[in-house]
Order: sequence, then structure tokens, then C-alpha cells
Amino acid sequence: MTKYVYEFSEGNGSMRNLLGGKGANLAEMTGLGMPVPQGFTISTEACTRYYADGEAIGDDIREEIGTYIGKLEELTGKKFGDPENPLLVSVRSGSRASMPGMMDTILNLGLNETVVEAFAAKTGNPRFVYDSYRRFIQMYSDVVMEVGKAYFEELIDEMKEARGVKDDIELTADDLKELSEQFKAEYKAKLGADFPSDPIEQLFGAIKAVFRSWDNPRAVYYRRLNDIPSDWGTAVNVQSMVFGNLGDTSGTGVAFSRNPATGEQGLYGEFLMNAQGEDVVAGIRTPQTIDQLRDQNPEVYDQFQEIVTRLEDHYADMQDMEFTIEEGKLFMLQTRNGKRTAAAAFKIACDLVDEGKINPEKAVSMIDPKQIDALLHPQFDAAGLKAATPIGKGLPASPGAACGQVTFTAEDAAAKGKKGEDVVLVRLETTPEDIEGMHYAKGILTARGGMTSHAAVVARGMGTCCVSGLGDISFAKDGKSFTLGGTTYNEGDWISLDGSTGNVYGQKIETVPAEIGGYFGRVMEWADEFRTMKVRTNADTPTDAAQAREFGAEGIGLCRTEHMFFEPDRIAAIREMIVSKSAEQREAALAKLLPMQRGDFEGIYEAMEGYPVTIRLLDPPLHEFLPHDEDDIVTLAAEMKISADELRDVIASLHEFNPMMGHRGCRLDVTYPEIGAMQTRAIIEAAINVQAKHPEWDLVPEIMIPLVGELKELAFVKKIVTDTADAIIADAGVELKYLVGTMIEIPRAALTADEIAKEAEFFSFGTNDLTQMTFGFSRDDAGKFLDAYYEKKIYENDPFARLDQTGVGKLVELAVDLGKKTRPDIKLGICGEHGGDPASIDFCQRVGLNYVSCSPFRVPIARLAAAQSALANR
Ligand code: PEP
Ligand code: MG
Repeated sequence: MTKYVYEFSEGNGSMRNLLGGKGANLAEMTGLGMPVPQGFTISTEACTRYYADGEAIGDDIREEIGTYIGKLEELTGKKFGDPENPLLVSVRSGSRASMPGMMDTILNLGLNETVVEAFAAKTGNPRFVYDSYRRFIQMYSDVVMEVGKAYFEELIDEMKEARGVKDDIELTADDLKELSEQFKAEYKAKLGADFPSDPIEQLFGAIKAVFRSWDNPRAVYYRRLNDIPSDWGTAVNVQSMVFGNLGDTSGTGVAFSRNPATGEQGLYGEFLMNAQGEDVVAGIRTPQTIDQLRDQNPEVYDQFQEIVTRLEDHYADMQDMEFTIEEGKLFMLQTRNGKRTAAAAFKIACDLVDEGKINPEKAVSMIDPKQIDALLHPQFDAAGLKAATPIGKGLPASPGAACGQVTFTAEDAAAKGKKGEDVVLVRLETTPEDIEGMHYAKGILTARGGMTSHAAVVARGMGTCCVSGLGDISFAKDGKSFTLGGTTYNEGDWISLDGSTGNVYGQKIETVPAEIGGYFGRVMEWADEFRTMKVRTNADTPTDAAQAREFGAEGIGLCRTEHMFFEPDRIAAIREMIVSKSAEQREAALAKLLPMQRGDFEGIYEAMEGYPVTIRLLDPPLHEFLPHDEDDIVTLAAEMKISADELRDVIASLHEFNPMMGHRGCRLDVTYPEIGAMQTRAIIEAAINVQAKHPEWDLVPEIMIPLVGELKELAFVKKIVTDTADAIIADAGVELKYLVGTMIEIPRAALTADEIAKEAEFFSFGTNDLTQMTFGFSRDDAGKFLDAYYEKKIYENDPFARLDQTGVGKLVELAVDLGKKTRPDIKLGICGEHGGDPASIDFCQRVGLNYVSCSPFRVPIARLAAAQSALANR
């Protein structure tokens, strides 16, 4: 029979998959003899079964949980529902990967009217007991029964107003008792049933709620952002309560073993006396720093510091810990590898190597490649910043600079962000429901909350700039404006945030790209040592190519030549070519383009300093170069000295029902061989010229034919290329090698890759088109319906961002095998968007590609991801 429940003393840190991160670490700390309130973990397999059983907890699992409650009662000497000595527990989620704040937690479970009264009398601290009770009713109603917490908060506010007090802490035991009655009445009014008083019923309600929270929208969204599979499930930790709200010698806090924003060595954290954990994490009260604990309670501080050092040494990584002090006694509630900014991640990795705690392999493996993005993010332009005066200062919760228009709701931020608008989300505090809006915002500003508040933790993880705890902000009643520094800012006004200093500016400040080096450079050097795949870039201009070189690109994997044609001086020539009525006219128009293209390619070869460059022949359908607006048609016709009707006829003749599957790619060269010939000439002549200037380089241009689906089609276009190239090389009397290859982006090309490889000297997987054509949905339109697919759990993520390894991946693998059969030394790469996505890069490593190619800013991500994959697959 499967075992679903484990006491903390039965588990250990290696059982993460089964016990979740929190459960495994609680077990590990128990094994290390640390002060952990005891309890048990219900495994992730129980969660998976809960869903498989139609959202029900099976009788066998119920029975097992019952047994473990009995064991916990024995261990603690307390009993569920016993007024004399009640067992109270917390029920918390904990999946394999940490998902801070995304799932649910219930504290103080086990309280009911009888227990509360006896407990109040026994502890002699009725205020604490009624405070715990009202918190429990509130949390349970919200989390388990989904009543919502807004009305409860209103009741608290009303009570504070009636009593003439400002803080919760000033409410008396009687006030809190009355509040708990009001809460229960509210519960009954909403649900038509009494608030459950049986602790076992409460417990199973809470366990179900945690299982259910695995699938709440914010958890689903977080999983999608962080590549966490939905079938992992969450474990549930049932732990005996310790109380941070027992009075002035009790408290609770969150601390990191190093600074999570900068990586600096030394304890870093916050705590609140006379409070429960939720108060610190929720950001409702602004906490004290951990240094103040040293002053207030040096003994506890020293004990905590010792535990922190042991934990960091034990895990060989920066730890993020929750602790509670109950009447002067320290308890550890959690430890996990801490989330950190990109800058901190690199510093910590290097420091740990220097401290002899890890080796460079581990340093490379411990950094999330997606985080690098944050390092490469813009900072304020120095002159703009100098001229600006801050209007307020909050906590520097997540570094970087952000500038955008004020929005007040996460929904607005998401909607505007999706349209490409720059927005800053301004909130009293953020809650986990805000996750999508936070993702789309350039920056986040909150009035409440410390460095470990929800906004701070989540923003750091995302690499989004965040300033938190700016208490001077006052919001208008309608929530549509705020006042700060004497000025009112409305929705749509521009503000700027500096997440590294906490400064807020009431204006737009231009941003500039970030500088990289130091720790980053050191880790990247190690990464390059371990990496076996090359990393190239997709770049169409010398500027992009140079940027990519700075980021460490080792060549160009895709130069989309069409992008050059859109420049104002070229578009006229390409349009002339399109309206041409004969091959001669077309050649005349193309002759105008030739010197420009040659110049482009020379610039690109120069920028790439001798590294390989793959240039793709023209790909898009020709109608993309012509206007469709009536006024523009008339103007252009006049410029081209043809009638508007004539131009309209050309445009009409180019109309296609499905241009993405129409007259594009190599099909253009089949109908107009002059195009391929001109482009080949530009590529080869540019190479000859640059090679002559740089004899130390060994230029071997790679000419890539797009959208091939049939061997004969490839052979036809290849002949245009080789005839042209060979003639030019012979005429010039030089030696120049070049390669002709193809994109594999049509399923038929993948299926017949052994045939295709007879002509192609290299394959580059165009996984954008390959995904589009394999799924049969348009890459331009899929966004409209993919959200519905995520909601309904048909897809977990966007197949255009993350390679679908099951379907599209199968085609890639097949093409690799078939291609190698025909041409064992065939060069294999990828140039679709997936070339910059870490999970897809790992796939490329496993199927044996020689390189990945991605946009310049993703080159460092790809370098690190490729190294991690090489290490993991060694
Ligand atoms: C592809 O299809 O993956 C590709 C790289 O080409 P494009 O995006 O230009 O169609
Ligand atoms: Mg393509």
C-alpha cells in the first residue's frame, strides 16, 4: 500500500519530490536537531491522487492522516479539541519548487468556542487567544470556504473606529472576542451553515483547500512563468503551532543568510514582535530589521545566527528562513534556498566558490538563466537622473530602473502591458492575485510592506524593478489617483522608479542599457568552459551583431535579409522590383539593391570578426512591402510613375488567403530566380571584400534557403546560388569556401530530412514556422485563443516560446537522425525563438545540435542554459 504521510522525523532533504521543498527541509532540520515544531507532511502523491479521484481525499489517506494526528498528539502531549491542552496546527502548502505566496496556508487550526474559552483561562492571555481565533476564522473562511476577506477587514476597521484606536494591536480581548462572533455570523450569513467547530472537520477542509490551491489561477500562472509542471502537485505540511503573538517576548520573522538584493554576506531580514508570520509576509505592518533583534534579544539572535550558519553550510546555498519566537524560545518554521536578484545570484555563486563551499560547476548550475535578463535591463540615463528630484523614497525592493504610466490595478497593468505600453503598477500592497499585472508592469510601487513582502519577493524573482513600503503615499478614495510629495498623480501620468535606491520620481526619466562584468563575467567564463553547444545570434544589422558579440555570440545563426529592405532608401527599389513586368525590369531594380545589400553584409561580417554568419534568402510574401491604405497607394503610384489602378492590380494579384503558407520563402526564388541570384552575389562579393581586408579571418559564408519542403525545390534554388557564387569566385580569382543549407521549418522537410540532406550542408531548425505548421495554428493569431487553452489546462505554456518537445520536438529529432544518416557531419542549429529558451536549449543539447541562435539580449541566457544542460547531461 502506498504511504502518503510522513512524520518530519521520517523524511529528509532528498525527499523533495515526495514531500515538497518545505516538507523535505523541515524533515532535514529535524534530523539536524534544530528546534522545529513537530508535525507531518502529506505527500505530493496524495495531491495527485486527490485530483485523479475527482477532487476527493480517499478513505485510505484519511485514515493514514488520522493515525498521524494521533502520533502528533502523543509527541506534543496535546490533543485536538481538548480544552485543557489543545493541539493547534498550521496547514501549509509546499511543492517541489518554491512558489512563494501562490498557494494557501491556514494557521491556528483546532480552535473552537470551547477550546478558546478554556485556553484563554489557562494561558491567562485571553487577548492572544481571541486574536488567534479571529485570525483563524478569517483565514479559514477565506481560504477554505472562499468567502473572501474584504468584509472581515471592514468589520475590523469598524471595530477600531468604534473603539477610537488606530492599530489592531490596540484592540482588547473583549473586542477580539466580539469580532470573532461577528466573523462567525458573517460566515453563517454567507454560507448558510455554522462555522465548523470539529477540529478534524476543520483539518480536512484545510487539507483540501491546500490541494485545491495548487490549481488556483495565480499558481497556474506562476507555474507557467517558471516551467513547473502541473502534475507535480503540492504536499501539505501539518505542523504544531508556535505563537509569535503571545506578547512582547514573542515575535516572528523572515531572514536571509545573505542579502537577497545585493548578495552581500551577512544575515539580512525583518521581524515583528507580537505578531504572526502572515503579518510580516503580507506586508501589512512595516517590520523591524534583524539587527534590532540583536539589540532586543541577543540570546535568541545568537542562537538564530548559529542555526543560519549551519543551514547555509549544510545546503551550500543562501537560505531564506522563517522563524518564530514563542515567549523567548526560538523555533524554525522553514528554510529554503532563497530567491535573489540576478546581481545577487552572481555574487553569491562566486563568493561560495571563494569560500570553498561549492565548485564552479555548482556555481554555474545554481543560477536561473532567465534571471540574467534583469542584469541586462536598463538603468536610468545618468544626466536624466541628475536633473530629476525624487518625490519620495521607499525600500529598494528589486533593482533596476523603470519608467511608465501609473496604473492602479493588476488587470489594467496586464491589459496595457500586453499592448506594449509601459506601466508602473502602484498599489497599497500587492497580493498573489496581482501576479499577472506585476509581470506586465515595468515597475511596481507599494505603499506598504518590507523587503520580504509579497511585492518584493515576487518582483525580485521576476527581475522587475520594485519600490515597496513608501508609506507617504496617500490614495484617493476612488483609487484613481495618489498624492506624494504634495503632488497628485492620476492614472496615465508618468513616474519613474529606482529599484536600487528606493527613489521615486514624478516624471519620465530615460533609461540606458545596463553594464555587465565582474561576477557575471566570471560565472559566464566558467559556463563557456562547460558548454558544448555554440551560441549564435539572430541579427540583421551590424549594430545588433556588435551588441551580440559583446554578449558573447559566436556567430550569426540567422540574418533575416528582408528586414534590410524596409529601410526607406531600399523600399523604393524593392517595390520597383515587385511591380516589374519582366525579368529584365526586375533585374534592373535588383541591381539598385545589390550595392546596399553588399554593404549590409560587409558590415555584418566585420561586426562578427570572422565568426560564422548564416544569411537567409528573402522569406516573406511580397505583399508585405506594398501599402494597403488607399492614400498610400495613390502617393506611391505617383512616386513610381504608374497609375494607381496599375498598382492596385499588382496588390490584388499578390493577395493571398493565407500568406504565411503562400508565396514566400524559397518559392519566391522558384518564381523569380533573379532575387536569389542578386542576394547570393551580395553575400559572396561582401565576403570576398571583407576577407581581403582581414586575411587572418577564414570567412565561410553560409547561405540559407528558407521554407523548403521538397528536395527538388531545394536543388533548384541551390543551383541558382552555386551557379552565381562559383562564377563570382572564379571571376575574382580568389579562394572562398561557402556552404548552402536550409531551414527545417516545414514538417515535410523534417520527414524527408535524409533526402534534403543530399543537397543541404547544414540544417537550421526554424521552430517558429515548424511549430505553426505542426500545430496548424498561426503564430500571429494564436495569442487570441491560447489563454483559453491555458485556463482549460490543454496547454501549460506557449508552444511558440517553449518548444513542444512531444510533437514538434519529435520532428526535430527525426530530422537530426535522418540528416546525419545521409551526411554524418551535417551542421545542425536552431534559429526559432526557442533558441533562447532554457528548457528548449536543454532539448537541443539532448538531441545533439551544434549550436543555438537567439536574439542578442538572450545570448548570455543561452550561454548559461547551454552550460547547465551540458553539465546535467554529462
Ligand atoms: C522560424 O520560422 O523559426 C524562423 C526563424 O524564421 P521566421 O521567424 O523568420 O519565419
Ligand atoms: Mg520561418
